[in-house]
Amino acid sequence: MRTTRTPPQMCPSCGYVFDAATEAIEAKAKPKPGDVALCLNCINVGIYNADLSVRPATEAEIAAFDAGTKKLIGQARIARASAPFGNLARRGGRA
Ligand SMILES: [Zn+2]
Repeated sequence: MRTTRTPPQMCPSCGYVFDAATEAIEAKAKPKPGDVALCLNCINVGIYNADLSVRPATEAEIAAFDAGTKKLIGQARIARASAPFGNLARRGGRA
C-alpha cells in the first residue's frame, strides 16, 4: 500500500476532512487527475482534480464507470456499513 498526501479538504457529502489517499486496486499507485476517489467515512464518490483535490463525481460519470469500479464501490459501501468504527467526520474539523 502506498499513501499519497493530498491537499487537506472536506468531503462535500459528510464533512470528513482528509489529506491522504491510498490505492484500492493497483498496488503502490498514486492518484492522478480523473481517478475515482472514495471518502473513507461515507464512501461518497469523487474525482481527482489536477492538484489532487477531489470534486464530486457527476451522475453521468458514475453511470459510465466500468463494472469493476462499480463493484468496488459497492463492496466499499458494504464494508463501511459493517465497520466497527463510528462516524469519522466527528474527528475532523475544517479543511
Ligand atoms: Zn464523506
